[in-house]
Amino acid sequence: MSSSSPHTVSRMATDLQVAVRKVASINPATGELLREVDCASETDVQQAVTRARSAQIQWFAVDVGARVEILRHFQHTLHARKSEVARLITREAGKPYVEALLTEVLVVLDAARFLIENARNFMRDQPTPHGGLAMKTKVGRIVREPRGVIGILSPWNYPLSIPAVETLAALVTGNAVVLKPSECTSLIALEFESMLRAAGTPEAVFQVVVGDGATGAALLESDIDKLVFTGSVPTGRRIAQACAARLLPVLLELGGKDPMLVLDDADVDVASSAAVWGAFVNAGQACLSVERCYVHRSLYARFLEACVEKTRKLRVGNGLDAETDIGPMIHERQLRIVENQVEQAKALGARVLTGGSRLPELGPNFYAPTVLADVTPQMQIMQQETFGPVLPIAPFDNDAQAIRLANDSEFGLAASVWTRNSARGEAIARKINAGTVMVNDVISCFGISEAPHGGIKASGIGRAHGLHGMQEMVRLKYLDVDRLPRVKKLWWYGYGESFTRHMEGFVDFQFARGMGRRVTGALRSIGALRDKKR
Ligand code: NAD
Repeated sequence: MSSSSPHTVSRMATDLQVAVRKVASINPATGELLREVDCASETDVQQAVTRARSAQIQWFAVDVGARVEILRHFQHTLHARKSEVARLITREAGKPYVEALLTEVLVVLDAARFLIENARNFMRDQPTPHGGLAMKTKVGRIVREPRGVIGILSPWNYPLSIPAVETLAALVTGNAVVLKPSECTSLIALEFESMLRAAGTPEAVFQVVVGDGATGAALLESDIDKLVFTGSVPTGRRIAQACAARLLPVLLELGGKDPMLVLDDADVDVASSAAVWGAFVNAGQACLSVERCYVHRSLYARFLEACVEKTRKLRVGNGLDAETDIGPMIHERQLRIVENQVEQAKALGARVLTGGSRLPELGPNFYAPTVLADVTPQMQIMQQETFGPVLPIAPFDNDAQAIRLANDSEFGLAASVWTRNSARGEAIARKINAGTVMVNDVISCFGISEAPHGGIKASGIGRAHGLHGMQEMVRLKYLDVDRLPRVKKLWWYGYGESFTRHMEGFVDFQFARGMGRRVTGALRSIGALRDKKR
């Protein structure tokens, strides 16, 4: 399993004479080293999980209301410190401050709101009335129990909102959590840990283990009860294989190649603004970003023109500057992926209408927002996740072709349809293979705390957010109590010819067609009560 990255460095601790791996937190806009943090060793990870396991019992024993109160406390703290936290996100992940505020801090505040409002009800036992006649003497309930210790592995692109939404859902349902954040964004994870602790979460109930892929692998191999992974498809595949080998439940939130379909009746001004924002927000490093745009041929030229004009007005720079629209990419490696895909598309005939190159004068990791026209399905840029500020746009001729193009992908995270006719948009949305389809908006589904988030095909397995996100954090136990403890069950031993006849009658009584056959069945079955001696 991969262990090193540009953010991992080894230092010889001379007094101990052992190599201590460190992860470096680097400001992607300037290249400035913010801090180096020691990687948790395999033993550190195992010990964190052991501590979490013993603390979880007590954590679940406290009333769900008490856990909700801790979330409320956390929510107040995060709100009070919103600017400081958003600035730290900008310094460590590069996105403009206002994006950090809206797509990270606000998303987490609202997710906490959702959990505060819904966790009590969610954790209540759910009565399960029985329809089958033979089972009428019983009372059943579905009981939700925490899984125990949840291991979370998270990426760098939404370094607060992704791990925080998952962590809060796990904690409020009574689990302990060990989080291994991305090696690029350890500081924001440590800040999150300190806010949760200040809100009253016991230390062992939520722990951050800093590190790289090797630290993640140690968490995966530790004694956790479920793994929640958000990251790339290749890592996700490796993780799924390791989980399968030990039958460890896993939630996988992986990459996307989200299509945007602009139908012939769409508002070109609105849809082009959406495409530009949807492709370039967070410098295109969003799992839900617009990665492929298909526009009806009748609007194609106008749409391209509008996108180019709007893109040229965007200001690229340091996210701490309030005038910045687009910040840097996270690191050189990601930049190279984007550069290679754009070069390959150009070589195969795509036209670069604007952008298409690095901006070294701004800093180490800047890439100009890029609009590509005349892209074809054979190009990598239309097949593989780009995860950068590129908007490739292709024409289509009719709705059926647009749906085919949208579905022609190994991914299935989200999609959007743009039309003035919502019924038409909804009908097309139902034919698109994706976890989420938005009509007349992009990406904002991530900020709807009630909406399940997740994909199909290579985009993952399972759902985060909302009630389904809480559901991922619990085990279902069916609890059944028979109200006639002194009566033997009809179907126990005592088999024989007459019992068989009675049981045939019992089946007919319930399911035969026609009242007459049912009544006869009822009369035949009555004798079973007499038969039940053993
Ligand atoms: P990544 O797969 O490189 O890493 C994700 C996490 O896994 C990191 O914490 C990393 O240290 C850890 N890791 C890496 N190798 C590991 C291994 N062998 N064993 C255990 N852990 C390991 O992904 P990334 O570059 O950090 O994030 C970008 C990717 O995440 C993109 O593909 C993006 O689409 C995806 N993503 C998906 C969603 C979603 O909700 N579907 C959200 C955000 C990002």
